[in-house]
Amino acid sequence: MGHRALVAYERTDGQYTLHYSHWGAANLKLKHRISAESPFGGDNTDSKWAKQLLAELADGLEADAVDGYLAGEDRPSTVVEPKPRATGLTLDEIVADHLDYLHHEAFFVVSTTFEVTAYRTLWFGLQYDSETVEQGKTVGNGALATVRWYDGEPVGDGHLQGQFAALKDVVGDMIDKGVFTPSTARQYLKRKVAELIVVPKSRAVIDAIPEDLVLGYSRGYADRLAHEFSDPADWRGRRVHILGGSPPKQLDAIRQLTRPILTDEPPADIVGVDWNGLHRGAQFGEFWTADGWDDSGRDADHVTVRKTVRHSLARIREFWQSNGIWPETTPEDAGLHFEYEGPSPADLEQAACTECGANVWRTRRGPFVAEYDTGAVCGYCSYECYFTHRHRNDLEEIAGEQSVYIPPA
Ligand SMILES: [Zn+2]
Repeated sequence: MGHRALVAYERTDGQYTLHYSHWGAANLKLKHRISAESPFGGDNTDSKWAKQLLAELADGLEADAVDGYLAGEDRPSTVVEPKPRATGLTLDEIVADHLDYLHHEAFFVVSTTFEVTAYRTLWFGLQYDSETVEQGKTVGNGALATVRWYDGEPVGDGHLQGQFAALKDVVGDMIDKGVFTPSTARQYLKRKVAELIVVPKSRAVIDAIPEDLVLGYSRGYADRLAHEFSDPADWRGRRVHILGGSPPKQLDAIRQLTRPILTDEPPADIVGVDWNGLHRGAQFGEFWTADGWDDSGRDADHVTVRKTVRHSLARIREFWQSNGIWPETTPEDAGLHFEYEGPSPADLEQAACTECGANVWRTRRGPFVAEYDTGAVCGYCSYECYFTHRHRNDLEEIAGEQSVYIPPA
């Protein structure tokens, strides 16, 4: 096993020598073990030979010449193998042709002044997440995630890996269900990696999280809520996803993070919200409204949990729209096309006309069916009954005229 990593050392000509480390990826600690005094890591105090060797490599010494250089004496072991795998490479060449995203858990880049940048490798291969995907490429097939540091520890590293594993699990399922092809899956992974969310739990780490990652702002039931350890100002200028909290609480947070302020800090860019409260409510037959929970559908046979959730979602959309917060465009996922098809007579669970009680199957034209944004699917014996019931009860179709089935004449 091991925690394999590749380490690229910058040369004086701007190209790199590429070295291997069998344990260097473990908790990314290699970042702190490489220094001018100990260029290949390790605890030995006599590292003069290592400093000399690296200086020669930086000046263009070839890999083959290193054997002679190292022969003869016993060298103390180092964390990074002193003999390079290759020399004279650009970073692009290393990433495209040498970095194995499955077997190398990390990649370190060391500048001529011994500044060390640590990257996590995220492999896009899906053979362990899908029943149908064959063995995937491991070289040149993945993404590098930058890692920032706070107090000697990588920030959000474990969380990032957990999120990526969960993402791959979902994408693997989508391939098995025929929703994704391997190439749309790769595009999807690439885009989602850029959106992975890291949730800071203390004020100091907010700044330590790379700008390209989305920050999670905890507003629901977390062990530490964002407003307990930070000020809204700490989040400004960042991409933020609001985690949890009912819509009014989320609205309150969004206003604090985006309202104009006297200092020049730009507002936070709110990229999303989520909340699982309405699923909980639906288990008890209640849907969410801006005025509180409503259980008016609880005793109706035709209202399922799924429909109750959908009804809550419709009310939440209304809430955001009435507060002026709703995207102008609808995001569309490449490869994901769910089309609403509208109700059909097969969706009816009872034969009685919702308005007059007559058997809808016995009329000359068969049932009229409407699906409302309350989640209810109603059957009618005639257009008149549909029209009357809909208007008397102030009902709204869930997707306009698409939600009304009118039997052929
Ligand atoms: Zn009727």
